[in-house]
Amino acid sequence: MNTIESEDDLRKICTFCAEIKKQEQYNLYCEMFGKQINYRYILKETEHFLVIPPAGSFVPGYLEIIPKEHVPSFGKLSSKLDEELTCLRILVEDWIKKYYSKYVIYFEHGSANFKNRGGSTSDHAHLHIVPVPKYVDLAPSLFRDFNPIKIIDFSAIHEQVKNGNPYLLYTHHDNIMYICDASNAKSQYFRRETLIQLGLEELWDWKTNLGRENIMKTIEMSEKYAF
Ligand SMILES: [Zn+2]
Ligand SMILES: [Zn+2]
Repeated sequence: MNTIESEDDLRKICTFCAEIKKQEQYNLYCEMFGKQINYRYILKETEHFLVIPPAGSFVPGYLEIIPKEHVPSFGKLSSKLDEELTCLRILVEDWIKKYYSKYVIYFEHGSANFKNRGGSTSDHAHLHIVPVPKYVDLAPSLFRDFNPIKIIDFSAIHEQVKNGNPYLLYTHHDNIMYICDASNAKSQYFRRETLIQLGLEELWDWKTNLGRENIMKTIEMSEKYAF
């Protein structure tokens, strides 16, 4: 029997790494759409990041930014890449605003390491960027369940993982950014909270609600109207 014992073992079966490297094995998009998907899921690429429509797309226009480097969270990435990440995030957000919703939230379940995951189900960092109706606001949920603080940039997330702690990062559509310690966060916390507010709670688990149709709609939209 195979047992997963180290971070290295996990890296070998990281679906994000397979998708970045355009490998068929462990590649969720090849599983969902077959080989003919032909890496169309990579909507945008910069030096250190990719933009993809994630498995679990409960609406079209839902995107994720992932770093090419296998790190458990953006906090673990070099702060030198914060600027590239921010520029890409703004580009993605503007695209979503143009074609899907004026209101865009983004969030990360920031793992400290592969055991202390802060609600993440992947060992590869990913930033969720989601078009929502105006009424969706995850800040009250955060204040109910955790002790968030407002932050102005990503330096706080680097600090948090330096101390070995997972975090939750949330930016509301008014651009106010929050972080909190996430040692006790439920898996996919932000997805659950968003879907509760949308009245679609049953879709929270991406593994059983991949959202194939929405993924394909987002791919087609990006092919028609590039970022
Ligand atoms: Zn990876
Ligand atoms: Zn996540």
